[in-house]
Amino acid sequence: MDLLNIKSLKVHIQGSEILSGVDLTVKAGEIHVVMGPNGTGKSTLANIICGHPDYELTSGTIAYEGENICELSPDQRALKGIFMSFQSPVEIPGVNNSYFLRAALNEKLKSQGQPPIDAADFLDLIKLRISQLGSTNDLVYRQLNVGFSGGEKKMNEILQMSVLEPKLSILDEIDSGLDIDALKLVAAGLQKLHTNKNAVIIITHYARILQYLDVDYVHIMLDGKIVKSGDKSLAYEIEENGYSNMTV
Ligand code: ADP
Ligand code: MG
Repeated sequence: MDLLNIKSLKVHIQGSEILSGVDLTVKAGEIHVVMGPNGTGKSTLANIICGHPDYELTSGTIAYEGENICELSPDQRALKGIFMSFQSPVEIPGVNNSYFLRAALNEKLKSQGQPPIDAADFLDLIKLRISQLGSTNDLVYRQLNVGFSGGEKKMNEILQMSVLEPKLSILDEIDSGLDIDALKLVAAGLQKLHTNKNAVIIITHYARILQYLDVDYVHIMLDGKIVKSGDKSLAYEIEENGYSNMTV
């Protein structure tokens, strides 16, 4: 069964059509990349899959594990295993990062009828995840994203992913603003978390993250539509020639 199956999706924001017929199928075990110029609707696609209330689905369907999820709230979708990392993660002063992560994990456990994880066990889990990801310890003890560097914010999103173990992760510009070392760390973390049971959609402007990931499909989005799909070589072709010279 497909993990995600999007058909003929049209989406409006404040009355104007942003997505004008998107089809996308993602299976467990796959990594997909969506590329395209600014303003073509990539973040809109991510947001509509996650149920962002500003976006109005005017036609088409979004099925997740065979179920139509269009009427579900963002938290219901998250509890089913859909995770989104933000293009610009928000700083939340006063909220401890590890407290936030444990609360999120406990919500997931509750929805699965499992008992909550206590603070001590969670600390062991988070330390394990941090070392697996090659990240630094102190991020979890700080306020959520407050004063984090660009790379630390993105790494923290990967840490959330590692704790919540989503089935479908949608990562909006996870590579933007990262220096090469941070990019490699993020990519290596993603590759480690990837199994044949989960799938990832990476939205990006640049082919460079593809060097460090086993990507299965690359999709090019223009004016609210996926106009071309291929393998990694499509991303390199775009990097070389630009979107305007692409043969559709
Ligand atoms: P991308 O991620 O490909 O750069 P977006 O999906 O962010 O593109 O945006 C696509 C178009 O939708 C842009 O023209 C943008 O201004 C518009 N848009 C996105 N979100 C909103 C919103 N909340 N309100 C109004 N317009 C929006
Ligand atoms: Mg965007």
